[in-house]
Order: sequence, then structure tokens, then C-alpha cells
Amino acid sequence: MEETERMDDLIENSEGQVLRSFVIPGRRLRSPDELDDAAVEAELKALLAQLALFGIAFDVCEHCTPRDAYRLLVTEVLPKEHGYPEMRGTGWVQHYSTSDYCAQCDAEAERDYQAYEAKRKKEAGDQPPGDAPPDEDKES
Ligand SMILES: [Zn+2]
Repeated sequence: MEETERMDDLIENSEGQVLRSFVIPGRRLRSPDELDDAAVEAELKALLAQLALFGIAFDVCEHCTPRDAYRLLVTEVLPKEHGYPEMRGTGWVQHYSTSDYCAQCDAEAERDYQAYEAKRKKEAGDQPPGDAPPDEDKES
């Protein structure tokens, strides 16, 4: 409970710090293009471990290779997203995800939303009269 309040307070009163600053100062972020697959994975793991110390998780969706994830991390997430170093060691976890940048995840979310909307309308009896299918036992 206390942590939640602390986090609320931080979010309200602080911009936080760009995630790049959480990574070991002076650590050069290497471009994915200069790394082979094994090195990309190693760098990715090292950065994720570093962020994890501050309660920052970067979730990798099923559509992203380690290279995709690493590229997103160094080009989008680390330079642009913010976190709160004050939360270090509190057990609070802030999530960032490749799915925020993933066209396939987007499409899936859109499909889920459409399905949800369709179901909601059906349940709300929004169907034009006489147009409803006779049996209701179809699951999405
Ligand atoms: Zn995805």
C-alpha cells in the first residue's frame, strides 16, 4: 500500500528520469547492426538486468526476435521512456513492452477489441430487431 502511494506521488510530482540514465553511466549503447545474434542477445540481457535493478521490466512479445527487441530498446525505449530511480529495491515493477511498438500486437489488440465490442453490443441487445441469430450458444 505504501509503495503504491509512493509511486502515485512520484508520478504526480516527478517527471522521472529517462531510462537511458539508468543504464551504467558511460555504457555505450551499441547499434544492433554492429552486433551478431549472440552479441545482440547478450547486450539485451545485460540491459534488461540493469533495468530490472530499478524495477523496470521490458517484456518481449512473441513476434519480436532478440534483435528486434534490442533495437526497440536502444532506439525507442531507453532514450524516450521514463522511470523512477527512487523505486529501486521497492519491489515495484514498471512494465514496458515491445508490444507497444509491434504492428502484429496492435492488430491482435484491435481484433480483440472488435470481438469485445461485438460481444458487448450483442449482450446489450443492440442488435436490430429480427436480425439476431436464433441460437445464442455460439462462443466468439
Ligand atoms: Zn507483438
